Amino acid sequence: MTCPNRDGTLGTGGCIFCSRGGSGEFAIKRTAVSSIDQTQHLVENYARIPASSVLSMKEQLQKGQELFHTKKTGDRFIAYFQAYTNTYAPVAYLEEIYIQALEEPSVSGISIATRPDCLGVDVLTLLSDLQTRYPDKFIWIELGLQTIHERTALYIRRGYELSCFEHALAELSNRSIPVIVHVILGLPGETVADMLATIQYLNQKLVGRFPMCGIKLQLLHVLQNTDLADAYDRQEFSVMTLEQYIDTVVTCLEYLSPDIVIHRLTGDGPKDLLIAPLWSRNKRNVLNTLHSVMRQRQTFQGRTYHESGSINIV
Ligand code: SF4
Repeated sequence: MTCPNRDGTLGTGGCIFCSRGGSGEFAIKRTAVSSIDQTQHLVENYARIPASSVLSMKEQLQKGQELFHTKKTGDRFIAYFQAYTNTYAPVAYLEEIYIQALEEPSVSGISIATRPDCLGVDVLTLLSDLQTRYPDKFIWIELGLQTIHERTALYIRRGYELSCFEHALAELSNRSIPVIVHVILGLPGETVADMLATIQYLNQKLVGRFPMCGIKLQLLHVLQNTDLADAYDRQEFSVMTLEQYIDTVVTCLEYLSPDIVIHRLTGDGPKDLLIAPLWSRNKRNVLNTLHSVMRQRQTFQGRTYHESGSINIV
């Protein structure tokens, strides 16, 4: 699929940080191509891709599982529809590919990354229907919120207002469809208090309204061939140091409700595209430092969370 923020419906440049691979460089390619240029070309010319060159869902899943063969992962998997906007297609096509993944015995459930303005009633009805048809599998929706602050949303060209996100949350909640929200830490112009306000907002909007809810905390990466990289070159903003990031993420975790599942704590940008911050290449070091700081502070997720959802930002 592509994205309304890229195909001209809302814009052509995409979100300012989004790579040409649609923020899905680690996804298995749907075709037998490897370079981003080729993949982008195929995305732009999707209608003209010969069916014979597209990998089947089974083949994509097998390739994905092969990536994990050296890790202790068990034998059950989440099929993650990651790159671009994965509800942005005719609903008959969506039904076909979601079912192909749900039918795989090794797949415990599917996780669908999308935008809140791409969840029409037809898509929501399909998701509800699939929940009923596959009661032993889960279906999650991942929404790229990134921030609650409209000034930042404008700067990053997110292309929708907070009210759109709230509407999507309400529709998903009404249908008991679990949601995972993506938040970026370190966006240009945002203070720690701004980021904590986003966490506070999610505590209030998610807890108690969904059968399961989660969050992915993503460090801002500057990737090649993005407008964010040009702004970085012009020194319009600076990226976080490791120490700043660890301090910020620990504080966010302290304020985060213990009922919100953390699915990601940092994110690792594709090494060949990453411009900054380069320390984030060493993910093991980032996670070890995080654990170490949490131990030193004797802290944990939700330590300063209040049931009311109100927090004191000092
Ligand atoms: S909505 Fe997602 S895929 Fe579309 S431009 Fe933004 S980050 Fe990229």
